[in-house]
Amino acid sequence: MSTDSVSKNANPFIDIGVNLTSSRFAKDLPEVISRAQAQGVYKQIVTGTNLASSQEAVHLCHQYPQSLYATAGFHPHHASEVDAVSWSALETLWQEPKVVAIGETGLDFNRNFSPPQQQLDSFEKHLQAGCDYPLPLFLHEREAEDAFFELLAHYRPRLLAGAVLHCFTGSQAWLKRLLDLDIYFGITGWVADERRGQDLRDAVPFIPSERLLIETDAPYLLPRNMRPKPKSSRNEPAYLPSIAQTLANLRHQRVTDIAQQTTNNAQRLFNLPVN
Ligand SMILES: [Zn+2]
Repeated sequence: MSTDSVSKNANPFIDIGVNLTSSRFAKDLPEVISRAQAQGVYKQIVTGTNLASSQEAVHLCHQYPQSLYATAGFHPHHASEVDAVSWSALETLWQEPKVVAIGETGLDFNRNFSPPQQQLDSFEKHLQAGCDYPLPLFLHEREAEDAFFELLAHYRPRLLAGAVLHCFTGSQAWLKRLLDLDIYFGITGWVADERRGQDLRDAVPFIPSERLLIETDAPYLLPRNMRPKPKSSRNEPAYLPSIAQTLANLRHQRVTDIAQQTTNNAQRLFNLPVN
């Protein structure tokens, strides 16, 4: 496919969290992917949030084999969908070469779209899977710090390939606790949100360079400091360099160093081919 090629002009980036199976990308996905590549976002990891979206993510990977990878799991919002049949289908996906992480999984006690006990059960099953399959965990946490930490700490020594807390939005204190578990941190456009991002901005300089990852979480979380301001509220992987620029400012680093470091980190954690 013509959009599935690599240009060499921009800083190379990997967007570790894009929701390309969202209906908001249904009409113009080839353009979305080619706009991303024009900005140097050569690789993207498509987030699977339940069985159907994980399968759809893998399907997209086969359409764009040079650009896309996928995660497979049940987001805490979808924890109540976990049953024996869907779980065994998920285990099949974890053996697909294009699937590079187990998740999205974790705990979200902010909205409790699934009951907390079902979230805990589902999270624990995914953690156990991370001890059985050589894939990192792609994690989500909202208003569930203590329960999240307790389960992750229990399984962390046996995880075969580590973990990333995607869309980390927490404080420096939360960061310090999690650093003891030696995990990676995915930073989104939340860092540019002047209304609610101050804790994160204070914490960002303390993330070790070798544990830093970046992601748009598109179509969500359009960076609020983009100029000119995009006409649509839909976020796109092509906007990832804007997040890198915000991080570079906060960390007093060059954006090329952020690009290089986060690309190396993503390749290492997700075991992606280097090219
Ligand atoms: Zn999430």
